[in-house]
Amino acid sequence: MPNIHVLDQNTINKIAAGEVIERPASVVKELLENAIDAKATAVTVEIREGGISFIRVTDNGCGIEKDEIPLAFLRHSTSKIQSVEDLFTVSSLGFRGEALSSIAAVGQVELITKTSRSLTGNRYQIEGGQERGMEEIGAPDGTTFIVRNLFYNTPVRRKFLKTPMTEGAHVADLVEKIALSHPEISIRFIQNNQNKLHTSGNHNLKDIIYTVYGREITANLIPVSVTGEAFSVEGFIGKPVIARSNRNFENYYINGRYIKSNIINKAIEEAYKPFMMQHKYPFTMLHFKIEPEFLDVNVHPTKMELRFQNGENVFRMVRDTVAEALRHKELIPKVELVE
Ligand code: ADP
Ligand code: MG
Repeated sequence: MPNIHVLDQNTINKIAAGEVIERPASVVKELLENAIDAKATAVTVEIREGGISFIRVTDNGCGIEKDEIPLAFLRHSTSKIQSVEDLFTVSSLGFRGEALSSIAAVGQVELITKTSRSLTGNRYQIEGGQERGMEEIGAPDGTTFIVRNLFYNTPVRRKFLKTPMTEGAHVADLVEKIALSHPEISIRFIQNNQNKLHTSGNHNLKDIIYTVYGREITANLIPVSVTGEAFSVEGFIGKPVIARSNRNFENYYINGRYIKSNIINKAIEEAYKPFMMQHKYPFTMLHFKIEPEFLDVNVHPTKMELRFQNGENVFRMVRDTVAEALRHKELIPKVELVE
């Protein structure tokens, strides 16, 4: 056996990237979340070949100062929390400082960024964890990330990618979910030079539901709106007529984050029980606001599964809110009586 030694940073980043960056959609997720955390009001996502050869995310957010650019690509470097105590009140989508270092470890990254305070922008390139230089460049306020040839230096990972069509579909799905979670941000998605989605950023969730899910769903929505101190919810639930045979349409967001939670699924389904056939699942598009101290977002790098401080309370609040909304609606389609 060789001697025990500490792995070099590049190797550590590559290994860490395995957890955070699984496929093009994970890159797009991290870059979009960064754009949102940077307070962008408009973001454009462009991919080619399912994102395997080319991903570009452009935002009009706060930008990164020149001397902080290399820092942003270091592992565990973040502007979003200072210490572990902050984790309990975190309201940004990111905070681990792992995304950029991971992406740069397994792709060829070009960054163009400018803050409103500086006169010119900067272009920075890094690939396979190796810096390729920085230069001043004219640019609008905001940030553009280009990621080329994902996993070009990890052939085994690259082999596990599916076809460009499948990877592209994962990206499209992800962009739609993020567009639905932030109706206040105008989000544009371009795939192989074609415009696939463009939300207006006019705060109207129903418009985006229409764009993504179409007329039938939009025509069968029940609005939900409850405002409380520690718990608020806004959004729509579907009438039972638009139920599906899987949970794909059970969407909900907590504090702007798309997540999965067994507790919330169960609560929603319990409320629907009297109206649903077995093995049918409702359409929901609910935006919850829950005080960050009731949540633990520090569960998994991709942060999809959320833990609650008091799961039973959350269960009850969600179930009762949905049940109440269902109670006030005529749920059975009217049949016209013809003489
Ligand atoms: P995290 O989002 O967890 O902080 P990242 O690796 O995703 O970690 O990003 C590192 C840092 O780079 C962020 O904390 C932020 O300061 C900066 N950053 C990344 N993307 C952007 C962006 N689009 N606009 C402005 N700053 C950004
Ligand atoms: Mg991030």
